[in-house]
Amino acid sequence: MRRKLQSLWRFCLDLLFPPAPTCFFCQRPLPQKGQVCFSCLQAISHPPGPLCRRCGRPLTDKATHCPHCVGADWAFTQARSVGPYTGELRLAVHRLKFRNQQDSARVLARLMFQAIEAEWWPQLDAIVPVPLHRDRARQRGYNQAELLAYELSLLSSCPMQLLLERQQPTPAQTGLSRRQRRLNMQKAFRLAPEAWHRVQQKRILLVDDVLTTGSTLDACARTLRRAGCREVRVVTVAITNKELQ
Ligand SMILES: [Zn+2]
Ligand SMILES: [Zn+2]
Repeated sequence: MRRKLQSLWRFCLDLLFPPAPTCFFCQRPLPQKGQVCFSCLQAISHPPGPLCRRCGRPLTDKATHCPHCVGADWAFTQARSVGPYTGELRLAVHRLKFRNQQDSARVLARLMFQAIEAEWWPQLDAIVPVPLHRDRARQRGYNQAELLAYELSLLSSCPMQLLLERQQPTPAQTGLSRRQRRLNMQKAFRLAPEAWHRVQQKRILLVDDVLTTGSTLDACARTLRRAGCREVRVVTVAITNKELQ
């Protein structure tokens, strides 16, 4: 009884004097408006400087493309991400993926929104999440890419459309060559029923949580391009810097 009264009292106090907003990552009180403090934002983001024109990885030399993209014929024209898949950003993706934290999707989508060049938005017709296979979606109860795409659609007013389906659970891709991974992945996606006419000549933003080798996003983009879509760009929360295989 006493505990109930205490929590009721706390609830009333919170209503009257709402607690100061705290940083999503470090939980410290935020001095300014927003959801992430300045030092966390710096820690999770790509360092300032030129990015690979294709995949958005930070460049270490004067090249225009990173080693992942030299000679690669990605079906998407450009990809952007908030930062490298390490530290707090990686933990945040895990929380979103495995603990159904819808709040995480909201904060991460806002960071993605900021990571994309502003001129992208008027050039886009639809936001499309990378689909999960039905069995996986049933197990997890949701698709994290769809949560991010939905939040991005609220921020940008660009509609989210579920234009892709996953046909089969993808076998483990580790240890396979780039070519083998691509062949495996190509079989994994197809256009959703009735989606054909919504793809024609459209410019689409594909959304996923992490860009690892790029083969998943490439396969999705290729499916959309083959169906008649004009251009596909990509945004993810994070990007890995795995050694090339
Ligand atoms: Zn912080
Ligand atoms: Zn690149």
